[in-house]
Amino acid sequence: MKRTHTCGQLQIANVGQEVVLQGWVNKIRKMGALTFVDLRDRYGITQLVLSDAVQNEDIKPEYVIEITGKVIERKSKNANIATGAIEIEVQHLTVINKADLTPFEIKDDITAQEDTRLKYRYLDLRRPVMQNNLITRSKVNNIMRNYFNDHDFIEIETPVFAKSTPEGARDFLVPSRLNENKFYALPQSPQLFKQLFMIAGLDRYFQIVKCFRDEDLRIDRQPEFTQLDLEMSFATQEDVIEMIEGLMAQILKKIKGIDLALPLQRIDYTKAIEMYGSDKPDLRFELVIQTLNEQFKQTEIPFFKTAIDNGDAVRGIFVPKVLTKKDLEALTETAKQNRVNILAFAKWSQNEWSGSIASKLNDAEKATLLKTFAVKAEGTFLFVADKYALASQAMGAIRNHAAKLADLIDEQQFKLLWVVKFPLFEWSEEEERFVAAHHPFTMPTSDCLASFDTDKASAFANAYDIVMNGFEIGGGSQRITDPEIQERMFQAVEMPQDVIERNFGWFIKAYNYGAPYHSGCALGIDRICMLLSHAENIREVIAFPKNSSGVDPMSNAPDFVDAKQLAELNIQHKK
Ligand code: ASP
Repeated sequence: MKRTHTCGQLQIANVGQEVVLQGWVNKIRKMGALTFVDLRDRYGITQLVLSDAVQNEDIKPEYVIEITGKVIERKSKNANIATGAIEIEVQHLTVINKADLTPFEIKDDITAQEDTRLKYRYLDLRRPVMQNNLITRSKVNNIMRNYFNDHDFIEIETPVFAKSTPEGARDFLVPSRLNENKFYALPQSPQLFKQLFMIAGLDRYFQIVKCFRDEDLRIDRQPEFTQLDLEMSFATQEDVIEMIEGLMAQILKKIKGIDLALPLQRIDYTKAIEMYGSDKPDLRFELVIQTLNEQFKQTEIPFFKTAIDNGDAVRGIFVPKVLTKKDLEALTETAKQNRVNILAFAKWSQNEWSGSIASKLNDAEKATLLKTFAVKAEGTFLFVADKYALASQAMGAIRNHAAKLADLIDEQQFKLLWVVKFPLFEWSEEEERFVAAHHPFTMPTSDCLASFDTDKASAFANAYDIVMNGFEIGGGSQRITDPEIQERMFQAVEMPQDVIERNFGWFIKAYNYGAPYHSGCALGIDRICMLLSHAENIREVIAFPKNSSGVDPMSNAPDFVDAKQLAELNIQHKK
């Protein structure tokens, strides 16, 4: 390398040295006969001092330059940057490459539209905040690789051109030119392959792997995303949970300097819904949801009464803030987005009651509310009344939103937990049948082994999710290794024999040749890095993500292809 140092390296101890630096012109300030330039690279910023004699060519922001010069001590030091004690008295400057005016400034706080940032992603990635996100991601990958190597896991790659895997999302399909009219499916996860590794006797597998799911995009979803995927033989839920906890403790320690207390808290799925209205509760704040049917059994409030008479649920929380009209409008919007139209509220402040239902509350109800929620200071009660599942889901979303409005979240905190004992099945309104809640290779819990296929609504799974700050960052299960249980499972989800045979015959057959019991898990690396970086969405921690419409505004993918390419694949556009 020609450069002697990076732009983040020089200290007071280097004063007097002759150095060569290369980098981008970050900022230029002219002061009389001197020009001050901030030179930037991935490692930091170094201040250059140019006299008019040196500056034989006009330089502009984002020019790539090389300088030779002497390190001198700065008169006014800058404690905000690592090299703030020194500057370089430039003797020679060469322009390596010129730059056009960039569409946005290369600095952390910018107001450019996200699509502009994505269109010029290579410029966006010059910004320190983005570089730090990618550096964090690289560190996380390294910690994971080292951790699993240390625990005797082997890293094995699985195919990207595969057959459809049943993870519950839509597949991305790739037409096969050599096999007319046939398609590969991009894997939603390496699920089946990793189970086969266990049958193959590889014992412990992991992989940092791209997965593909054709779903509607949200802040924490991308069509292609990266998982840390693992599977362990002769291992149960407990063994996997312990392994993942050790990993998360290392990640939080090494990236954030936080000591994670282990074992992590565990909550049954049913309890999580009851208390937090969500299977991925954010435990950085309390706001426990209560079912209030008992408390309101004599109610005068018509829509509570109707709900209770119908066997539905009145669910509520107490927010320790007297919410404003604007807060309440925003929360009502959240309720509506969760298919609940009415958000009732009652404010309690200085012993006075006000709000939409306050006048209809009798003294006994007021006293019970204060007692149920152990209210100590002023605040607002929020209520919804609907089918239990719907009311819970809406209240879960309201709980998260209200915590933000009441400023209850400590952004520096990391709260992790396991949600366990998930339902084995989920009722699909669309298909009017029970479908596998996780995937159909998930082992029922031992207490429902005899009845899971006859009493589907109360069947539970040996499945577990790990949650951090309200995001599901991973999940897994113990797998079915007994062909008879597998057969019953397929019947329970009403999968016709020919479909089973065509889709999974190849896979199920393997279980006739001696399988160890095994369990596994997958962690969402994008989501973990998003949370560690305090980023707003996973696109901020992915180098080249798709926008919320699934488009890459830089290359314009997806795009039309030539008629010739389609013809080779035997594909025709429907007119
Ligand atoms: N394949 C599952 C997923 O991607 C994880 C697992 O069960 O190991 O969510």
